[in-house]
Amino acid sequence: MPQKYAAGNWKMNGLVSDLTEVLEIDKGVQDLACNTVICLPATLIYAADGDPRQVVEIGGQYCHPSASGAHTGDISAEMLSEAGAAFVVTGHSERRTDHGETDADVRAQTEAAWRAGLVAILCIGETLAQREAGETLSVLAGQLKGSLPDGATPENTIIAYEPVWAIGTGKVATPEQVAEVHDALRAQVDPEMSLLYGGSVKAANAAELFALTNVDGALVGGASLKAVDFVPIARALA
Ligand code: PEP
Repeated sequence: MPQKYAAGNWKMNGLVSDLTEVLEIDKGVQDLACNTVICLPATLIYAADGDPRQVVEIGGQYCHPSASGAHTGDISAEMLSEAGAAFVVTGHSERRTDHGETDADVRAQTEAAWRAGLVAILCIGETLAQREAGETLSVLAGQLKGSLPDGATPENTIIAYEPVWAIGTGKVATPEQVAEVHDALRAQVDPEMSLLYGGSVKAANAAELFALTNVDGALVGGASLKAVDFVPIARALA
C-alpha cells in the first residue's frame, strides 16, 4: 500500500512567531498513522526541526538543480537538508508560472533533491483552459513524462496532482474529476508511489477525497497555515 501523507505548503507565509502552529500541528497528529509534512519558507526550516520527539516532518518548497554556485537568491537541496528538511516540493504550478520552470527544470530539481537525500513532492496539474479543451489527461501524462526522472521510487518521490484552477481559489475538483485523474496516474507510476491531491482542500471536503481508491493524501496550501484547519484534514486521512 502507498504511504499516506498530509502535507502542507506554507508558500511565502510565516515568520518565526508562526512556528507555534507547527508545534500545535505536531500535538494534534501524534497518534495518527499517516505521515505529516509541512513545507516551510526556507528561513523557518532550521528553527522548525529542533525537537527529536516531533512527528511532523519538515520540507522546503523549491531547490536549485546545483548543489552550490553563482545563483543569487537560490537555495540548494543540500542546504535544505542541512537545515532539517526531509522533503521538498518540486514543480509547483506557482513556480512553473512565476519563474517559468519547465518540465526539464523540474526533472533536474527532483534529481537534485534525491542527491541530497530529500523526498520530492512533485506537482503536476492542468490549467482551466486545458481542462475545458479536454486535454487534462494528456497534459498530465506529458508533465509526468517530462518531469519525473528515471529512478523514481515510492521512497524518493510523491506525486501531487494539483489542478491549477483549484489552487487557492476555493474551487475543489469534484471526487469524479480527482478519481479519473488519480486512476490514470496510478497506471503510469509504481503501484506503491503515493498520489496526493491538492487544490482548496479543507476539513469539509477532505474525507470524501480521501475515500477515493487512488488518493493517498493531500498537499494543502491555505488550510495548512493554522493547526485548527490542518489537523482535522490529517485526522480525516489517518
Ligand atoms: C498548494 O499551494 O499546493 C495548494 C494546494 O493550495 P490551496 O490548498 O490553498 O489551494
